[in-house]
Amino acid sequence: MKSFRKELWFEIKGRRAFQNITEQVEDCLRESAIREGLCLVNAMHITASIFINDDESGLHNDFEVWLEGLAPEKPYSRYRHNRAEDNADAHLKRTIMGREVVVAVTNGKLDFGPWEQIFYGEFDGNRRKRVLVKIIGE
Ligand code: ZN
Repeated sequence: MKSFRKELWFEIKGRRAFQNITEQVEDCLRESAIREGLCLVNAMHITASIFINDDESGLHNDFEVWLEGLAPEKPYSRYRHNRAEDNADAHLKRTIMGREVVVAVTNGKLDFGPWEQIFYGEFDGNRRKRVLVKIIGE
């Protein structure tokens, strides 16, 4: 069995954003030369997510509004975590949107359903953060 590991770095300007990282993950898969197996992609930070969904701007706005309804950024004083920080909402949003995705690798390609794309979700930006790509198979 082959194993491949790579860290992707992101620095999102602003507090929150969604970024399509599918092409970068496909580059990792090519580099790995693995044809059959599994590809794990996970955020290495507890205020950022990796998730799979549609690359459609209306939907991304819907996610932002929905997440702000569940866990509004402000007032900062509403969260106990914010006694020392201001990012409690980012931890909660990250948990809802998920830490990682696993995609099957078939015939050297990410075996997606229709419209599936991989996104990095940033909820507390303006600093460098890592995403781990781990691919195993043969
Ligand atoms: Zn925090």
